[in-house]
Amino acid sequence: MPIFNLIVIFIFGLLIGSFTNVIVWRLPRDESIVKPRSHCPYCNRMIKSYDNIPVISYLFLGGKCRYCKKSISIRYPLIELAVGILYILCFVIADFSFNLRFFTGIFLASTLTPIFIIDLEHQVIPEHITFPGILVGLILSPFRMGGWSGLLNAVIGAVVGGGVLFIVSVLWKALFKKEGMGFGDVELLAFLGTFLGWKKILLVIFGSSLLGSVVGIILMFFFKRFREKRILPFGPFISLTGFIVFIWGDRILHLILTKIFFLA
Ligand SMILES: [Zn+2]
Repeated sequence: MPIFNLIVIFIFGLLIGSFTNVIVWRLPRDESIVKPRSHCPYCNRMIKSYDNIPVISYLFLGGKCRYCKKSISIRYPLIELAVGILYILCFVIADFSFNLRFFTGIFLASTLTPIFIIDLEHQVIPEHITFPGILVGLILSPFRMGGWSGLLNAVIGAVVGGGVLFIVSVLWKALFKKEGMGFGDVELLAFLGTFLGWKKILLVIFGSSLLGSVVGIILMFFFKRFREKRILPFGPFISLTGFIVFIWGDRILHLILTKIFFLA
């Protein structure tokens, strides 16, 4: 039953989204992921499990804490919904079956979403996610990308992904005498490289730089704050582009090779 599968996957995605909320709060603050249980940031009361149901509890409580009635940020249910929708998308692109493409997709959705949010808020990319991610990518690569050549592609993808950005950041530092890109971006690209291989990771570097520049220029144009500080984390653009390339990378590469370079 595809509908039944979709509902189960969506609920599973919402639960992982709920866990994502915990991760993005606690990981940058060096708090434990597993304990203590969630509590209200205002009155510190523990949130009961029946008040912790993704999205539904938020709607039921009218977006307020049960005890102190302070508003709970809308970002919590939104992040839960976002992960739920990404899980559904992964099932759709995996042709509605529980294959390796589906499980790889939900793994990337569950790791790139917290990276996206944490880098946006704190300008750091947690190694607690990227390092295990590199390991998982290498282990899966022979099964996903065709035996030994798949593993080789993953290794080269990591070296190219991390290497290009590493060289750019070293050059940047030498030329402008200040920190350009953080090492977190290098690790994130290495992580994605193990999943995407060397061709698609180049696409990610190019695509995320383009997207980041366009968004950066728009923000600087409209907001004084961005003109003065000029701080725009690169991680969210890499994460977003990385996920898009995971889903549509083959098609995008094909389009570029045939329409721009006229290689059939
Ligand atoms: Zn409260």
